[in-house]
Parts: sequence; C-alpha cells; structure tokens
Amino acid sequence: MTNNRQQILCVWDFDNSLIDENSDTWIVEKLAPDLRGFMSEFHRAHPGQWTALMQQVFFKLHERGITRADYERSINDIPVSSANLEAIRLLHRAGADVRILSDANTFFIEAFLKHHGLSPLISHVASNPAHFDLTGQLRIDPYTLACPLPCPCQLCPANLCKGQVLSDWLHPVSQCQFDRVFYVGDGAGDLCPALRLSRPVGYVLARAGCSLERLLSKRLALDGLVPHLPQMAATNADPPAKIGAAGPWVGVWRSGEDVFQFFSSQLNG
Ligand SMILES: [Mg+2]
Ligand SMILES: [Zn+2]
Repeated sequence: MTNNRQQILCVWDFDNSLIDENSDTWIVEKLAPDLRGFMSEFHRAHPGQWTALMQQVFFKLHERGITRADYERSINDIPVSSANLEAIRLLHRAGADVRILSDANTFFIEAFLKHHGLSPLISHVASNPAHFDLTGQLRIDPYTLACPLPCPCQLCPANLCKGQVLSDWLHPVSQCQFDRVFYVGDGAGDLCPALRLSRPVGYVLARAGCSLERLLSKRLALDGLVPHLPQMAATNADPPAKIGAAGPWVGVWRSGEDVFQFFSSQLNG
C-alpha cells in the first residue's frame, strides 16, 4: 500500500515556547530564590556561559540537600498551556515527527514530558545532557564540546547551535526528507534554526513580544517590507510573512490556543 501521507516535522523550543517559563530560572525560584543574585552576577561576568552557570547552580542546590524528587516536584509545577500539550497530541495523531530542541537540559525536559504523558510522542530531545551522579548531584554538560569559539554561525552560544542540529535533522542524506517543517520558538537562540528553513516547506511560529519576533521583523525590514509579522492562528486570514528570497513562512502566536488552532487548520487542510 502506498503511503501518501505528508512527512511532517515539528520542532519545539522548550523554555517560553512549549512551556510558559524559563525552566532554569523557574527551578531556582522554587528551590533557592536567594541564588538570583549569584546568577545575575555570574551571567554579567561570563556572558554566553549559561550552561556553566547552571553547573554552579546545581552544585549549590546539592550542597543544600536538594534531591531529584525536589527537582521533579518543581518541574511538575512548571506553567504550561494545555493547548500546547493538546497541539503535540494533535501533531502526533497526524503522524508528525515531533522533536524538542532546547538550551535547557535533558533531565528537565524528559521529566516534564514524563509528567504530562508526552514522552512516547516525542522522537528526539536535543539539549544539554544532564544526569544525577552517584552522590545525587545533578550534572549538566554542554550539548557539544566540538564547536569552536565563536560558533561559525555567529548567532548561537558556543555549547549549542540549534541551526546546526536542525540542519542535521533536515539533511541526513543531503536532501530534505520532510514535506513540511514547523519550528515553534521565542528567543534569540531560535533565530539560527529559523533561518535554516525555506519556503515552501518551512514555517516559523514566533512567540509575540519576544526576541525571535523582533529579530525576524528586522529581517523583513531589510527586505524593504513593513516589519509586521501576522498572527498565526486558524481564525486569522492574514497569510504568513515571507523572510528573504526563499526563507520560511513566519507568523506570531500569543497563546497556546493560537498554536493549537494553527496546527488544526494545517493538519486538517
Ligand atoms: Mg525559548
Ligand atoms: Zn547557530
């Protein structure tokens, strides 16, 4: 039997995209809010070294007796739109390959997916690897140690070029195997993968009011276009914007309901 079903890839950023928080700062707020000052000082002194910062934070939490169960309780409470969770179920039912690409860490993401019963629906989690060592301390490593400083793309932190990961997924044998590719993101780290997508296959869903929307709007302005990204929901008739000569379709979303409605219309249409 011939399978005429479209091959669809949907890649989600985790922090402030799939979930409504930054998981790293959420954990600190829940487990040790007095570490806020340490975090901002470290960040000022070592910009671009977020994974190294979280290594230090996890060390301090271990010293205070924070256990895996404490982390898991906090992760279970991370705010998330039920419509985003429903969108993942919808994508999976439609046969889409659903993946997560994040600069957080594998432990947070996998614990979150498990809590919400989504683990079997996600084919890949690409993030900084994290595990508990024999003493019970959470350890995190950079996603890659191979990337020279600065990363050749000039857009990403040294530990993770999300664009390179996405490119590897899209071109396993130098040819795109997907009929459509969706990328849901919010931050500056999502610009590199967004720009690796091209029309008519690629769609970028940028969260309204965040860095990715601002950066993509600047790209539109470079093309001499009005820097306006249309709302991406089934109820809105605006066609998505086009980035560059062959770049992806781009639209913005304000809520999980927008994301869910958009995928409903795309997958049923
Ligand atoms: Mg994010
Ligand atoms: Zn990059």
